Amino acid sequence: MTTTVERLETVRSRIAAATREAKREPGSVTLIAVSKTFDAEGIRPAIDAGQRVFGENRVQEAQAKWPALKAEFPDLQLRLIGPLQSNKAREAVALFDVIETVDRDKIAAELAKEMQKQGVKRKLYVQVNTGSEPQKAGIGPRDAAAFVLRCRQVHGLAIEGLMCIPPANENPGPHFALLEKLAREADVDHLSMGMSGDYEIAIGFGATSVRVGSAIFGAR
Ligand SMILES: *Cc1c(COP(=O)(O)O)cnc(C)c1O
Repeated sequence: MTTTVERLETVRSRIAAATREAKREPGSVTLIAVSKTFDAEGIRPAIDAGQRVFGENRVQEAQAKWPALKAEFPDLQLRLIGPLQSNKAREAVALFDVIETVDRDKIAAELAKEMQKQGVKRKLYVQVNTGSEPQKAGIGPRDAAAFVLRCRQVHGLAIEGLMCIPPANENPGPHFALLEKLAREADVDHLSMGMSGDYEIAIGFGATSVRVGSAIFGAR
């Protein structure tokens, strides 16, 4: 049986190879280790192996395991990659360093208010529903550039990237290409795209971070 650390090493070397293959700068892709459903003891081997960027998709679950780990390892960076309810904005701003799922004005306004109240700045991404799936969070692709502009001009938020989760049973390439195009239109530099099954493809389309869970921690 392979261990978390062995799987992490494999993912790291595949990211490096895909980055080379795409003729991109070495180290230009950040690995977000998605630790949802795994507890602190399951996560620790990855931290001990030097992994410092983690993703969680639920605020409440993250609150149960990350405050203690962040106190122990102050250089950890935690990213929220799941849908955010406005009544959880306070907790999200307090715990997460990066929030990747800004997708409507109400959330943008809440985040602006909470960052001001708490005297902190968090890095923010806008989630785009590239497949326009009714059940999925994210702003529609046609509204994405205007929404980024409103985040900046109306809510005073610095948006640094776009994030997407392509439809489960479609070729992800066109969705990654669309996100890259929207990022250029909206003038943002970072692209969070690619998961265990398609992170190498995403790197070919310009991902600056990939969100990899099961390929590191095992099946959920
Ligand atoms: C769970 C999750 C991932 C990781 O998925 P894997 O297929 O396990 O790599 C990536 N992004 C989001 C938004 C997730 O919720």
